[in-house]
Parts: sequence; C-alpha cells; structure tokens
Amino acid sequence: MNNATDKVRVSDHPLVLAGLSVLRAKQTTPEIFRRHLQEMSVFLFVEASRNWKTDAIEIETPLASCAGVVVAKPVVLVPILRAGLGMLDGIQRIAPEAAIGHIGLYRDAETLKPVSYYNKVPVNVAAAEVLLLDPMLATGNSACEAASILKAQGARSIQFLCIVACPAGIEQFCREHPDIPIITAAIDPALDDHGYIVPGLGDAGDRYFGTG
Ligand code: URA
Repeated sequence: MNNATDKVRVSDHPLVLAGLSVLRAKQTTPEIFRRHLQEMSVFLFVEASRNWKTDAIEIETPLASCAGVVVAKPVVLVPILRAGLGMLDGIQRIAPEAAIGHIGLYRDAETLKPVSYYNKVPVNVAAAEVLLLDPMLATGNSACEAASILKAQGARSIQFLCIVACPAGIEQFCREHPDIPIITAAIDPALDDHGYIVPGLGDAGDRYFGTG
C-alpha cells in the first residue's frame, strides 16, 4: 500500500492493478466484470483488516493443543446500493460471519443532495468493525451521507472501501469524515460534468448488473 495521505491508502498489489485494468476495459463483459470486482474487493478487505485486534484462543489440532486467535470485534459490511452490492458479494465469501447493513440513497433533483430511501443497519454496529462499500468515490456526496447515517446509528470504527476514487470525492469525504480511512485501488484525476470519474470504469452498477 502507498500512503496518499495518512487516511487514504491506495493498493499497489499487482493483482489489484491487473484486476483494475480488466474492470476499466470497455469490452469486459458483465460476467468478467463481476468476477474481478469481487476479487478486488477481497484484496481491499484484506488490507482494511490488516490491523484489526485479535483475541487469543486455545485450539486443539488433531495432534495437540496450541495457541490461536479470533478477530476480536464483530464485522459489519454496509454496501451503498446498488453498486456496493458487487463488493459485498466478494467480501462475504471470506467473511461469511459478518452482519450486513444496506444503505440506499438517491439524488434529489432540486437540491442535488443525497436522500436516504432505505437504511437498515445491524444492531451491533457500535461494537463492530464497519466497512462501508461503494466501488466509486466520485463527488463524495453519497459516501459522506452514508457515513453520517452509520455514525448516527452508533458506528465508531468505520473504513470506506472503493475501487476508484477521485480528488474531489476524497477531499469532501476527508473534510466531513476525517476519522474514516479510505482504501482504494486507484485515484483517478477527474470528474466529468455528469459526475463520472475519468478515466474510471463507467457506471459500476450498470456494468456489474448488466443493465448498461
Ligand atoms: N458512479 C459510477 O458508477 N461511476 C462513476 O464514474 C461515478 C459514479
């Protein structure tokens, strides 16, 4: 990992870089896009969990007892609908015990501000390691609102995982939530007039669900 700022970590893992290239390519089919988005999300999850505390346990192998560990806190995964579901699909496979929340947001046509239309977060969120998931950190509006919703429900240890971020989104997110680390596979230079990251990978939800 490279440190862009102390709160933004950009993966430099070769498999993440190679996977990102597949996601970016416009000829990548939804089937391949899904596979790579899920796999990359697992790499980012591994990075996010690197410093989690563990509790010591005693275990019995078939031959003897020995020391082992378990992750100390429960894990809560919260995808922002809809594209965040793609990241969830990957991470859930290696963290099947994690509880899952969902946050749905739409953009109000007049204020252009995100409005929550659905929000269901596990009751143990205050005690948990919480991972907020959205492949694209574009304007930052949705991510900021989702993080505020999580904090209002008691979440205290949150990390934001995305595949591609851009400077405008990072700036807004770090300003509103300086306590939440961002873990991403890339920081792209620009946002276009429609709020898409450039070069980015297009509409992550449409490409994941084949609705483009
Ligand atoms: N959402 C996307 O799916 N892609 C972008 O580039 C920006 C927001």
